[in-house]
Amino acid sequence: MRVTNLYENKKPVISMEFFPPRNEAAEKTFGATIDNLSTLQPDYMSITFGAGGSDRDGSYQAVNQVMVEKKHPTVAYLAGYGLGPDEITEILDRYKALGVETIFVIRGDKPRGDDFSPHPDSFPYASDIIAFIKDRYDFTLGCAGYPEGHIDAESLEKDIEYLKLKVDNGAEYVVAQYFYDNAFFFEYVRKCRAMGINVPIIPGIMPVYTVKMTQMLSKVCGSSIPADLQGRLDAVDAEDKEAVLNLGIDFAAEQCRGLLKEGVDGLHFYTMDRSRSTTDILSRLKDENLL
Ligand SMILES: Cc1cc2nc3c(=O)[nH]c(=O)nc-3n(C[C@H](O)[C@H](O)[C@H](O)COP(=O)(O)OP(=O)(O)OC[C@H]3O[C@@H](n4cnc5c(N)ncnc54)[C@H](O)[C@@H]3O)c2cc1C
Repeated sequence: MRVTNLYENKKPVISMEFFPPRNEAAEKTFGATIDNLSTLQPDYMSITFGAGGSDRDGSYQAVNQVMVEKKHPTVAYLAGYGLGPDEITEILDRYKALGVETIFVIRGDKPRGDDFSPHPDSFPYASDIIAFIKDRYDFTLGCAGYPEGHIDAESLEKDIEYLKLKVDNGAEYVVAQYFYDNAFFFEYVRKCRAMGINVPIIPGIMPVYTVKMTQMLSKVCGSSIPADLQGRLDAVDAEDKEAVLNLGIDFAAEQCRGLLKEGVDGLHFYTMDRSRSTTDILSRLKDENLL
């Protein structure tokens, strides 16, 4: 499945992102989560990749399970941080043999712990990895964009210049980091278009799952929490799991309505390997005939 065919022929394209199960308990629930969410008939599912390559086999197994065993259209990710050209080739050859046609390419970050040493010939930026892959393979490639700017970027404008380089080097669609204020996304797309980036830019949706996770991820990912959402988080009992989930579902559904109204090409859900929130949000949008 080439994601670009989907974006050319359907609007909005619904996609769901998963990370490979990290232990035996998660392995047991992973398949059930995929099955639950597949009832909503997403257009494709995608599987993340641990930077540094330590869990490359876990990602491969998850892609195999979702794409080959369960027969869902699937995108495999490759985070190239620290990997040498030979390692990237080996990973991609395996995906190619499995039948993967679309690879989402990110740089990734230095894995936690001091004992990781990057390969001496590893690539500094995602744009370099994309160029390397484009020269050697026939995959459709995607890349990441950051509506509020990447956390280490000199400026949003500079970050968009580097996004343009990723597209010029071969990325054919962009999935955006999540944001909690649609204005960031709309302004980002406007700036990208002004810079000549003409590929689909897909908004990422991260429902609030727990208050703690939202606060932690906001710092790591550089996605700010606007006053409106902060007010709702302050008003809820953080220990009341059901109330927090419902808050997250309400907020994300409102965001999706606003995005769909502006005619976005797709909605990409960061499921965090959980099914309830994405299910409720999509069911509401379907009930409202927005999908
Ligand atoms: C949708 C999505 C999915 C993701 N999935 C994963 C995953 O599966 N695994 C994982 O480990 N991480 C994942 N990430 C996180 C990502 O790896 C990190 O955000 C990482 O820090 C940057 O990756 P990138 O591909 O955007 O890097 P790049 O595009 O290389 O950018 C990294 C930084 O360098 C700057 N930069 C880029 N090019 C240049 C240049 N030529 N010169 C100077 N500066 C430059 C940019 O402005 C930015 O600040 C994902 C992020 C998103 C949005």
